[in-house]
Amino acid sequence: MSVTSPVGLLVVGGGIGGLAAALAAARAGYAVHLLERAEEFAELGAGLQLAANATRVLAHLGVLGDVEALSVAPRRLVMRAAHTGQELSALDVGAPYRRRYGYPYLVVHRNDLLTVLLAHCRAHPAVTIETGRTVHDVRTVTDPRTGRAHAEVECADGGIHRAWAVIGADGVRSRLRAKVIAAGTAARTGIAGISATGVSPTDAGYGGGGVAANGYATYRRLSAPTRGAPPDVQLWIGPHLHLVQYPVRRHELFNQAAVFHSPTFGHRPDWGGPDELDAAFARTCAPVRTAVAELDRDRYWPVQDHEPLHRWVHGRLALLGDAAHPMQQYLAQGACQALEDALALASALGLARGPQTGGADDGDAIGAALLAYQDVRLPRATDCQRRARSWGELWHTADPLTVALRDRVLRARRADDYTDTDWLYAPPPPPRSPTTTQPGAAASGSTTPPAVRPAAVSAGPAGPAGPAVSVGSAGSAGSAVAPPRTGGARPSPVTHE
Ligand SMILES: Cc1cc2nc3c(=O)[nH]c(=O)nc-3n(C[C@H](O)[C@H](O)[C@H](O)COP(=O)(O)OP(=O)(O)OC[C@H]3O[C@@H](n4cnc5c(N)ncnc54)[C@H](O)[C@@H]3O)c2cc1C
Repeated sequence: MSVTSPVGLLVVGGGIGGLAAALAAARAGYAVHLLERAEEFAELGAGLQLAANATRVLAHLGVLGDVEALSVAPRRLVMRAAHTGQELSALDVGAPYRRRYGYPYLVVHRNDLLTVLLAHCRAHPAVTIETGRTVHDVRTVTDPRTGRAHAEVECADGGIHRAWAVIGADGVRSRLRAKVIAAGTAARTGIAGISATGVSPTDAGYGGGGVAANGYATYRRLSAPTRGAPPDVQLWIGPHLHLVQYPVRRHELFNQAAVFHSPTFGHRPDWGGPDELDAAFARTCAPVRTAVAELDRDRYWPVQDHEPLHRWVHGRLALLGDAAHPMQQYLAQGACQALEDALALASALGLARGPQTGGADDGDAIGAALLAYQDVRLPRATDCQRRARSWGELWHTADPLTVALRDRVLRARRADDYTDTDWLYAPPPPPRSPTTTQPGAAASGSTTPPAVRPAAVSAGPAGPAGPAVSVGSAGSAGSAVAPPRTGGARPSPVTHE
């Protein structure tokens, strides 16, 4: 068993959330070590919408220019009826949007965003990265001599890493979430009544994380744009289905995703096959049917749902991104919220005056900073989780009266009316300071000196806190991790990871 030297912060998971958190914390003055399970960094080929609340974070991290250079800035988000093709509503995300919110609305290839974040992490002297490292356990340990707490992370190979705090950014099927849930009152369990599917409906199927499929399946395609491909974000909605389309990577690629509710969900383990996809969209308008016919049919993503957690922090472990707030994709906010998490966490940690001189676990600066981060972020992310679910229900409703009222309200609003989007895209309130801050030198005899200095998050040069742990095998960006697949004619459901 190897035990590494202590480091300021350990980040578990190198997705968008984990990499953003590592970069933000390094910019706040922490030495950060990131552990990623996969051998290589990759995001499955698909698009991502980044609203102003996310591009604001990217700007604070100093990476917006690089991301923007690889993105598309659509002019409008257009919502249409999937069966008639009629425009129901639009949101102008061009110049008026940028004026109002200060930052652009972008659509980007996931891998492009990941590659930019990874490059900036690698270029930062306070960030070290190891791939091929699966974390199995995290515990908070209190030194009996000093009363000071630190975290210990145990990897699959038995290796131990120590840090002042651990950030669990291990995605929708988070293993570390279970630690927080098990620690107390964290969450209600997954959605009831679907355990007959065999598709991953239970806690057991998702590593104790409580994430559940809800019977909706997502099919995707990323390809060269065809002639006439719409330049904006197009959303086509109808009973139990929708289709979203937009260009990415400077219009070089076109992203499409169709979502429908499987009639065999809860009855058959192989629910959600392409025959069901075709049947669901059979009576939609021609542009929608054409798009659906082009989708990749060898895999699909079950839409995941989870009740909001009541807490994200246990001792020196804090959850972030999908690990903290898995949400349905209907607000296009999962990654945006992970980016908000990253900045809020780094701001809270940056305000923590370390190293500590003593005190109990949750009474010290780092523990207080984690709780301050939770206090700022949990209510907002919870709001997004709940609203995403409701928004999806409104898109997919089959009730004629609700459809009529919805469409009437949507048609009445103007494209430059932002009253319903301010809550989401306007800047969040500034993070609160940790309640306990104790500046001072490390206690003599401390076994785990933190590489921490008080600092605001900035895109400036690295602080003095260099990496305190040796660098492992650095992953290379760009290539995709092959998704799990099973044989047979029907596609296997895969998760986003
Ligand atoms: C169809 C679809 C469309 C979406 N569209 C949007 C959108 O338009 N806009 C938006 O903002 N969001 C969108 N989302 C949500 C977004 O994709 C996620 O919220 C976001 O990618 C989560 O990032 P993350 O870093 O938290 O998790 P992940 O990207 O899942 O990263 C987790 C990482 O942790 C690693 N890991 C897991 N377990 C371990 C372990 N034990 N040890 C070490 N490493 C581990 C994994 O390998 C992975 O690299 C969409 C989601 C879906 C499914």
